[in-house]
Amino acid sequence: MSKTAIITGSGRGIGAAIAKRLAAEGYDIVINEVSQEALDTYGAQTVDDCRAAGVRAECYAADVSDHAQCEAMVKWAKDTFGTIDVLVNNAGITRDGLLLRMSEENYDDVIRINQKSVFNMTKLVGAVMLRQKSGRIVNLASVAGLYGNPGQMNYSASKGAIIAMTKTAAKELGSRGITVNAVAPGFIQTPMTDKLTDEQKAAMLAQIAMKRYGQPEEIASVVAFLCSDDASYVTGQTIEISGGLSM
Ligand code: NAP
Repeated sequence: MSKTAIITGSGRGIGAAIAKRLAAEGYDIVINEVSQEALDTYGAQTVDDCRAAGVRAECYAADVSDHAQCEAMVKWAKDTFGTIDVLVNNAGITRDGLLLRMSEENYDDVIRINQKSVFNMTKLVGAVMLRQKSGRIVNLASVAGLYGNPGQMNYSASKGAIIAMTKTAAKELGSRGITVNAVAPGFIQTPMTDKLTDEQKAAMLAQIAMKRYGQPEEIASVVAFLCSDDASYVTGQTIEISGGLSM
């Protein structure tokens, strides 16, 4: 029987690379974006790329910070595909600014979209996986959640929380054959980091041992490992993928 993976925020960037990698591994794929417009603009291409691997791929517009929309998406995925074997909590945003200038709205938006989405989706998909007695959940944390980052009080808080949520979910779900892990990327070239100034990018590059930025496919390969049988005894862990940013 085929296996199904839901990857949140997977129309583009790291999520799209993960979707394509898991499609190449034989998973049927659910591409999620916050809006139908985003799906039409770039999600459709990702769906086509996944289908080219010979698997079934469908897209679903839902704001993963909204519990009711997540509930509808998970029900649709279960009804459409039969099982949900992998959940990748990838959707995320930045609203950077120094602490004393950061608005309450920018703090709340990042916590809601990056962190509450992980609660929503892990709770709902976790219930499906508990009944199946198997599953793999991978959360996108960040080096900012491990070490902090100036200008990212909101983002660091959300990613640090995701690391703690990963450990908690691993402890709650482990006895039913479900593993929960996180990856903590450093600087990966995507639309999210394209927004940074040249000065910010150069400052980051200077701290990276490998002296280059990471590519989305280099995150996708580690996520694929965590979803594979080779990682059957790995749970509650956070794997840093940063080219040696912090050592
Ligand atoms: P990205 O290119 O901005 O992609 C993020 C995706 O999430 C976008 O497709 C975005 O949709 C979607 N999204 C945003 N809010 C959503 C919502 N409420 N519901 C559903 N989807 C939503 O970012 P990325 O660089 O690929 O990042 C992917 C993940 O890796 C994020 O969790 C990020 O924090 C993490 N990460 C990235 C880096 C890096 O260097 N790039 C480093 C560490 C961690 P729209 O395009 O429509 O906004």
